[in-house]
Amino acid sequence: MTNLIWFRRDLRLSENPALLAACEGGADVIAIYVLDDAAYGDWAMGGASRWWLHHSLTSLRHSLSKLNIPLILKKGNAGEIITDIATGYDGVYWNRLYDPYSVKRDTAIKDATDNAHSYKGTVLFEPWDIETKNGDPYKVYTPYKRACTSKGGIPANSDRPEKRSKMPDIDLGDALEDWALLPKIDWDSAFYENWTPGEDGALGRLGHFIENGLGDYKEGRNRPDQDYTSRLSPHLHFGEIAPWRAWHAATSKASSEDVDSFHSELLWREFSTHLLYHFPTFPDEPLQPKFAAFPWRDSKTDLTAWQKGMTGYPIVDAGMRQLYKTGWMHNRVRMIVGSLLVKHLLLPWQAGEAWFWDTLVDADLANNSAGWQWIGGCGADAAPYFRVFNPMTQGEKFDPNGDYVRAFVPELAKLPAKYIHAPWEAPEGELKMAGVELGTTYPMPIIDHKEGRQRALDAFEKVKQNG
Ligand code: FAD
Repeated sequence: MTNLIWFRRDLRLSENPALLAACEGGADVIAIYVLDDAAYGDWAMGGASRWWLHHSLTSLRHSLSKLNIPLILKKGNAGEIITDIATGYDGVYWNRLYDPYSVKRDTAIKDATDNAHSYKGTVLFEPWDIETKNGDPYKVYTPYKRACTSKGGIPANSDRPEKRSKMPDIDLGDALEDWALLPKIDWDSAFYENWTPGEDGALGRLGHFIENGLGDYKEGRNRPDQDYTSRLSPHLHFGEIAPWRAWHAATSKASSEDVDSFHSELLWREFSTHLLYHFPTFPDEPLQPKFAAFPWRDSKTDLTAWQKGMTGYPIVDAGMRQLYKTGWMHNRVRMIVGSLLVKHLLLPWQAGEAWFWDTLVDADLANNSAGWQWIGGCGADAAPYFRVFNPMTQGEKFDPNGDYVRAFVPELAKLPAKYIHAPWEAPEGELKMAGVELGTTYPMPIIDHKEGRQRALDAFEKVKQNG
């Protein structure tokens, strides 16, 4: 008996329900990964995700070989490829995904074959597990969370398949290098210092977080200058760790407030998946239809200044440069940079979403759409549009000594903490001593905060009148 396990965003051997099922009864198992960009339209994997995928597949292939499971690599239409080869196997196994593109493709494969089996392996709750009393999807996080926690515990599952008796001798398809997933320009050098893609890297990251971050997570999670959050997001996105593993590892440690706070974030991930499944246009269209008529600006110059971290607002520039350099940005700063783009600059949230999609190693269709709709005030449970973050006070509160800014905006490194979040307020002498010449070594603010805020509120008034 030979089964096929189709890996997608579940690149791990432990606690992988589809893999366990494929291995049941001592069957021979062949693994496959299909790179299928066309199936995802505008949402084909971005550059930073491709870097991650390259390394994660290398790690997966190595781990699988120890179990005598070969990994085939194929590029092309996954729906056709899997349907075509399914007849050659006793069973085809995968873990379910919930974005509209995967759902459409996987449903077609199931309709065309009679030996496909799918499992819950990437989430704690499937999107249809949680519904309101009327049987509708939730649109607001707090009642969604309550419904999840009332389900009575998160099941644990720690199995790992056993080694197969022999390594099958088969054609392994494409060479990973031929997919050219790594960037052609030298953009990724700091990625290597920051990340270890793969299952071992995920478990190492979880262990580090439980020992060093979780104990102060509730308060510390808002501090970009500190290391209190788990940085598990790319590992969770690629399924290198089961979400229930992260959930349970936290449960036995730290105070209940810190654990609850971490669990809440894992449930935000669930909620975003729930929204994407039930509202498939979520990545492209505002959930509140009145925002479709929002009077966005169109300025390539402003968008480029934001992307490059040259807005003149130090906390924003630090965040955008952290993103480009390391493939990740702290959550608090994601909100601050997002607010500046969408509110002060009046540029569409979809422009920010697209840039994040290309540059984040954790780019995730559900979480990214939810984050940007929240920032844009146009999601179902979003920050109200009139809430405009003040980048100076956010910086002073969450990066009080300016260490985060210093780490990513070296041209401001010598400024005292008092001025680092608003260099234009520093006396001439202080600027000179710090080697800062505003407008030359570092830009003046791209727009005055008060002016930008008022312009955003005026634009919002127009939308409000639409209903
Ligand atoms: P922790 O604080 O350690 O949280 C643990 C896990 O919970 C995370 O790894 C993540 O899987 C989940 N999580 C935490 N916060 C959120 C949240 N607000 N929404 C959904 N899940 C959450 N997260 C992504 O994984 N991919 C994205 O593409 C993404 N885009 C975002 C865009 C914007 C504009 C914003 C505001 C947020 C976005 N987030 C995204 C959510 C959040 O910023 C990251 O998940 C978090 O910063 C990852 O760091 P961490 O693993 O240290 O988080």
